[in-house]
Amino acid sequence: MGKLLENNIYITLNLEEAHSIIINTCAFLQSARNESEGVIQEFIEKKKAGIVKKLIVSGCYPSLCGSSLMDRFPEIDAITGTNDINHIVDALKSDRKAQFLSRDFELVLPSRFLVTLPHYAYLKIADGCSHRCAFCLIPNIKGNLHSFEREFIIQEAEGLVNNGVKEIIIIAQDTTNYGADIYGKSMFIPLLEELEKIKGIEWIRVLYTYPGEVTEDLVSYIKNSEKVVPYIDMPIQHINNTILRNMNRIGQRKDIEKIVGLFKRNDIAVRTTLIVGFPGEGEKEFEELKKFVEETQFDHLGVFKYFREEGTKSYTMENQVEESVKERRENTIKSIQDKISLNRNKTFVGRTIPVIIDYYDGKEEMFVGRTKYDAPEIDNIVLVKGAVTVGEIQDVVVENVKKHALMGRVL
Ligand code: SF4
Repeated sequence: MGKLLENNIYITLNLEEAHSIIINTCAFLQSARNESEGVIQEFIEKKKAGIVKKLIVSGCYPSLCGSSLMDRFPEIDAITGTNDINHIVDALKSDRKAQFLSRDFELVLPSRFLVTLPHYAYLKIADGCSHRCAFCLIPNIKGNLHSFEREFIIQEAEGLVNNGVKEIIIIAQDTTNYGADIYGKSMFIPLLEELEKIKGIEWIRVLYTYPGEVTEDLVSYIKNSEKVVPYIDMPIQHINNTILRNMNRIGQRKDIEKIVGLFKRNDIAVRTTLIVGFPGEGEKEFEELKKFVEETQFDHLGVFKYFREEGTKSYTMENQVEESVKERRENTIKSIQDKISLNRNKTFVGRTIPVIIDYYDGKEEMFVGRTKYDAPEIDNIVLVKGAVTVGEIQDVVVENVKKHALMGRVL
């Protein structure tokens, strides 16, 4: 969107005003592809009815399907893949059918137009992934890891801070491997050091780390850092050694235990993600996972049912798990985590903690914020009473809690 504005192309959310529609797609699960197709079809109808003139489909779906997407939906005027953000204007201006599907990533400093709240922003430091998890389609779509140059990331972060951003949330498919492709080794910690130097950044949050790559140095860096918040998102996927091996994950149970233990002993909140119902997950393997969740007490946890994705290694694996079993296991883990979350929240009662104020909720008649231990959109919220300013970090006394929320009053 930044690129469009830079080229004097007006963005509107009002369909009646729009000449062209850009549909940015997700494609790494069948459900996402169905949704993408549903939206494409919806706008094909609008194009047929003369409501819009031009239809552009961008992102992962074109990268996955290539030109066959245009064969299936001939009404699409142009497609641009995940490596072709830079060509979105060319796609819009082209007066004939166009395809931009580069295999290689072209580094171009994006002009950002934030769609998140103005005081936080996601900062992508790399794209693609050189791992080959047996369940995952992402390397097929985005290719191997391609890290963005450090200078480029710093420049983008400075631009965000100049526009009022206080919290930078670092993302990539594999953040901890940052730089391995262009600098010969992971340069994630040096990158954090550079980002910390930027005046105006108050919080830096790290998402999507890979457990097999998290080092003791990273744990101690986060612990001692002034700006990197004591929070880590580290999807472990499972804990049973056979399942981990079949998932093609680096590291075994003992490695995961060691690194999670290190984070917890250093008071760093851990968010993880699990897959239940991976092929070969019997009751024994699931019980091991369940017990591990109960014992470990993750601060935040997301659990997903395994989806048999065509094109992945696990698609052809034997011992696929029945849908009803997956569902039961998902619900079991969810209810365990709900209890853990409530108990964890109770430990905050009476404490005074810094909270970033995200917005005012008119229905609750309270401000809504987050602690350092909570990422936006996925983790807990803090409901705050009192006179506060949106976008500011303020001290809040916690008076009460719910399963996924703290409630308090500003000091
Ligand atoms: S590390 Fe993440 S993105 Fe990479 S293959 Fe595994 S699940 Fe997919």
